Amino acid sequence: MAKKVRNTTTRAVRGAKHVYFFGNGKAEGGRAMRDTLGGKGAGLAEMTNAGLPVPPGFTISTAVCSAFYKQKGKLAPAVDAEIAVNLKKLEKAAGATLGSATNPLLVSVRSGAKFSMPGMMDTILNLGLNDAAVEGLKARTSNGRFAFDSYRRFMQMFGSVVLEIPKETFEHEFSAVKRAKGVTLDTGLDEEALREVVLRYKQVVRARSGRDFPQEPREQLTMARDAVFRSWMNPRAQEYRRIYEIPDHIGTAVNVQMMVFGNSGDRSATGVGFTRNPATGAKEFYGEFLVNAQGEDVVAGIRTPQPIAELQKVMPKAYKQLKEITTRLERTYKDIQDFEFTIQDDRLFMLQTRNGKRTGYAAVKIATDFVAEGLISPKEAILQIDPESLSQLLAPGFDPKEWNAIPVATRGLAASPGAASGQVVFSAEDAVRWSDAGKAVVLVRRETVPDDIRGMFVSQGILTATGGMTSHAAVVGRQMGKPSIVGAAELEVDEGLKQFSVKGQTVREGDFVSFDGLTGEVKLAKVASKPSEILQVVAGDLSPKKSDIYRRFSQVLLWADKYRRMEVRANADQPDQAEMAFAFGAHGIGLCRTEHMFFGEGRIPIVQRMILADNEADRRAALQELLPLQRKDFYGIFKAMRGQPVTIRTIDPPLHEFLPKREDLMVEIAKLGGNLATGPSFERKLALLRRVEQLHEFNPMLGHRGVRLGITYPEITEMQTRAIMEAACQLAKEGIKVMPEIMIPLVGHVRELRDQKAVVDRVAAAVMKEAGVRVKYLVGTMIEVPRGAMTADQIAGEAEFFSFGTNDLTQMTYGFSRDDIGKFLRVYQDKKILDKDPFTTLDVEGVGFMVRTAVELGRRTRPNLKVGVCGEHGGDPSSIHFFERVGLNYVSCSPYRVPVARLAAAQAALAVKVGD
Ligand code: PEP
Ligand code: MG
Repeated sequence: MAKKVRNTTTRAVRGAKHVYFFGNGKAEGGRAMRDTLGGKGAGLAEMTNAGLPVPPGFTISTAVCSAFYKQKGKLAPAVDAEIAVNLKKLEKAAGATLGSATNPLLVSVRSGAKFSMPGMMDTILNLGLNDAAVEGLKARTSNGRFAFDSYRRFMQMFGSVVLEIPKETFEHEFSAVKRAKGVTLDTGLDEEALREVVLRYKQVVRARSGRDFPQEPREQLTMARDAVFRSWMNPRAQEYRRIYEIPDHIGTAVNVQMMVFGNSGDRSATGVGFTRNPATGAKEFYGEFLVNAQGEDVVAGIRTPQPIAELQKVMPKAYKQLKEITTRLERTYKDIQDFEFTIQDDRLFMLQTRNGKRTGYAAVKIATDFVAEGLISPKEAILQIDPESLSQLLAPGFDPKEWNAIPVATRGLAASPGAASGQVVFSAEDAVRWSDAGKAVVLVRRETVPDDIRGMFVSQGILTATGGMTSHAAVVGRQMGKPSIVGAAELEVDEGLKQFSVKGQTVREGDFVSFDGLTGEVKLAKVASKPSEILQVVAGDLSPKKSDIYRRFSQVLLWADKYRRMEVRANADQPDQAEMAFAFGAHGIGLCRTEHMFFGEGRIPIVQRMILADNEADRRAALQELLPLQRKDFYGIFKAMRGQPVTIRTIDPPLHEFLPKREDLMVEIAKLGGNLATGPSFERKLALLRRVEQLHEFNPMLGHRGVRLGITYPEITEMQTRAIMEAACQLAKEGIKVMPEIMIPLVGHVRELRDQKAVVDRVAAAVMKEAGVRVKYLVGTMIEVPRGAMTADQIAGEAEFFSFGTNDLTQMTYGFSRDDIGKFLRVYQDKKILDKDPFTTLDVEGVGFMVRTAVELGRRTRPNLKVGVCGEHGGDPSSIHFFERVGLNYVSCSPYRVPVARLAAAQAALAVKVGD
């Protein structure tokens, strides 16, 4: 779903407050301030105000980040002054001083945007350490090993993130010391060895950056702050924002917070968790932790952590307090919480809380459970579910029979549900390349890193050997709705050789693997998938009583329907699609593309005969053959929709689309001619080729199509009208209600519509007279040509309804070919010329202006004019918000998107008033 944001760049930085303190039970911000403080900062403030144990600190606002970019990396002295004041406050609250040789304060410096972007930006821990402070830390903790380990970790992080020295340079020195000391584990190094590491790191910094490692903590802080701001624009963060439609201009906040140590010994730990299971939605306390570990160790997926239930055994008091706190947080936020904590010497500290990301499955389960528990109202429930979640529930699973017949190769943690099957690739780049070549791939990695994001996006599923349920792969997989299994520890992955082995079997790049993200089972085979449980109920193959998720799904949609103003229709061309649309709750068909019916079995030769006819009589003869076939389709669609309106569009595409390609014909003719096999077949092909050449157009999308066909060949409109009205009359006679709406495409001038309307009315009257029944029908038009939109007041004089064809309207307003934009869209997005694909999400400023204007003009002439949209945008949640604002009567989308649109329409109605 597109993120709605306030434009923070417009806020003036001068004279404003830039830094917000939290500590000692009081914070200057709160949870309503996510725009300013980012999600993390707002959560820390909220928890502080609620009296929870949060290490003190301060948040530098997102507006400072925007200013940082506007002023090319320079910040006003006022910002630095405010930070200095807050630093003093922090030292007081912490009872420690930055850089002190006796009692040093150490801080973490973390990013935190309004929308969480897991692992995409940078973080610095243990800041404040220098040659004096490290001795102070040793004295305070009586643990020299710990103090020097913290110092080397800090130097390593600061060196790579801030000074941009490759990580491997540090790792190289670290390994060298380990080798020299004859140890294999990091923990095998004693204080003396770690002092040596620190010395070597200093040399690395001097050699690589041309300066000494900064010893002044305030300088360290300024440099770290700026590095976090810079990381907002790193390529992976930009890619993440592109996928999730998070605007660039909102910036990130920076949180500076007193360090607490989960790695200070065996009575310390660090962990993350959720108040409910984010994969299945089950009501269970859920998370994992590592004893004697620091921050990123859990999420980085390097060590597989322990499940949180174990914490109850090893640190029962802290566990109990954590459970109480997080339950309270869930009640406060009325949403599942995703939290981070650290236990330092048996004392619990909360480091983060935020609304948890969840699968579509979990979203529906949690929202319906919350309503049942009385925590939220149905209205709040529908606002809580991302409409896209509903489409995840329609994704396929494996056929149990086929699946169960294949042996399980291994198991991992079931991180994100769904069936994934495809060819194995071992890097994100390969995933992108293979999927661009049309292959279904499964990305197998030891662990994923944030840079893998694009590869994950294009894969069928993600399988990793290490990591826990909150590792990067798991979090991102769930959010994308990608089936994911993590921590499949039996996999020995060799990314260099592009292979993995499991229990003696070797799987190479390109081999097939399948897995079930709900159970964690991995199998070494290609397995076909079967429809989702919900689709099975909809298709009548499974009783709703047997499907808990179906009942919850339909409950959510019924709640949504109470708040919806716009109707939701479906684009469907076949009776079975119409049945599906009806079952998903569509209130009619918004677009039936009749030409799709021409491609039905055995029809193309008739259509071709119609096109090849060089006189009206022959054309009419071919049309006569098509008539009963079209009538039968219309009969089926009307019947499936049980009296709801059905909008049928007369023929639209250029005729050459029904004929073979010119090049193919030439090859075939050459072959036949070469064999001297001239005869009827050869002559037919020659005639076809001649017609194809006649029909050739330089710009077929702007050529002889749409209403222009009906005007030049009125007999086509006549046949289609006859088929529609004969089907309607037949049903009326059978006592079944019908509501046909005949729609003329591509109208740019009112006279075009007038011409075609006359044909439709004449034929409809004749059919009704022959049948001896009257059926109420409407004649309307698509608004998809800019001139049509700009003269909508005139067109509404003839049209009884409008339906916006936003695909063509976008094409013609922007002048972007809908078939060719792929060649340059990516560059446009990389260069920030376009944020989104305008063929997916409506361009509100330009195309939206056309839509808004046409609605106003049309209703000026015909105040009750019914107006809808049937372009692809009709199923896009953020476009639906716009359609709500301009007061459309309905949106129409593919049958499978009807649930998404029902929910999005309800959210739009709750969010805006028409005309806003
Ligand atoms: C449109 O242009 O938006 C539309 C619905 O028609 P088509 O996609 O068939 O051109
Ligand atoms: Mg169109």
